Amino acid sequence: AQLRSYAKATEGKVAEFKGTKGNDGKYTVTLIEGDGIGPEISQSVKDIFAAAKAPIKWEPVDVTPILKDGRTAIPDDAIQSVRKNLVALKGPLATPIGKGHVSLNLTLRRTFNLFANVRPCKSIAGYKTPYDNVDIVLIRENTEGEYSGIEHVVVDGVVQSIKLITREASERVLKFAFQYAESINRNKVRAVHKATIMKMSDGLFLNTARNISKDYPKIEFDAELLDNTCLKIVTDPAPYNDKVLVMPNLYGDILSDMCAGLIGGLGLTPSGNIGDECSIFEAVHGSAPDIAGKGLANPTALLLSSIMMLQHMGLFEHADRIQKAIFEVLAEGKTITGDLGGKAKTNEYAEAVMKKL
Ligand code: NAD
Repeated sequence: AQLRSYAKATEGKVAEFKGTKGNDGKYTVTLIEGDGIGPEISQSVKDIFAAAKAPIKWEPVDVTPILKDGRTAIPDDAIQSVRKNLVALKGPLATPIGKGHVSLNLTLRRTFNLFANVRPCKSIAGYKTPYDNVDIVLIRENTEGEYSGIEHVVVDGVVQSIKLITREASERVLKFAFQYAESINRNKVRAVHKATIMKMSDGLFLNTARNISKDYPKIEFDAELLDNTCLKIVTDPAPYNDKVLVMPNLYGDILSDMCAGLIGGLGLTPSGNIGDECSIFEAVHGSAPDIAGKGLANPTALLLSSIMMLQHMGLFEHADRIQKAIFEVLAEGKTITGDLGGKAKTNEYAEAVMKKL
């Protein structure tokens, strides 16, 4: 199955799922529906999971931010739910631009130490794009870099944002990337960086990568400058299909959206935020306020994220079944949403998927 390999890394050695089934034979999963299109696309996941009889009981939580000791925090109930269930599915959460509370997405990643963000980006059979052979796996450091949130005004008209890179966080995500590559049978890892300019911060990331690579002699390691990577991927993505790309936080954020563009847009790209204990799965896209509440959203990205989640939990049969149904509907191209050139509403697409189960 197309996405199965993405989860193998989390079977056992990379990030073992330690959750247990309840007496009803179901796992409880925390559900953060999110903002904007979040509730609409979450509904599709719930409907399709119910139709596929996936052994999942959803535990919806409210993550409206609270202020704790002067800092943005996630409500305790939500934190306890994720800590108990060890796994969550999350819709997009909006972040105010240039003011207001810090990103809840960041807060969640920090709260649960979700140090690696896995972003597979694979062409959908039957959906025509300039390239039909994209199969890029990108791993983004998820806790620091430009996202460390340390900013201050130096003097009027001058601000400073700190890009924080630590050896510890770099080691953690790089080890994950090598183990992940092994588990999906890719024998190449490439670090993407800008150590020509940020000689110290990206230099530390790159040197750490070189050191960690020595522990994985079966895997070929090399490095590439971010701008070069961008140019080469949009010119010909095929040479990237045998590698795992690993990079600091901001580069992964931007590069993964660029890769999403190659396969048909943000409606199609899933991700997993992986930590040692808990993991949170979410679409790469945001809350899409421009189409929210209109039934226009494509739920595929959240659905594929939920499939990564099922695989992470070892529920391969259900994952395969739902995934096959999704790919059949997309390949037929009759009941697809507007972002893919179709006319189907979110719920019509979900119903078409359910019919294929
Ligand atoms: P966005 O990803 O929400 O939207 C970008 C474009 O893609 C829009 O035109 C939107 O309509 C389209 N799009 C996105 N998802 C789609 C889907 N499932 N189906 C069809 N079209 C889709 O990015 P944005 O507009 O820059 O951000 C909106 C908000 O989302 C911001 O507050 C931002 O902070 C937040 N955001 C959250 C996350 C997250 O929760 N992980 C990620 C990115 C952005």
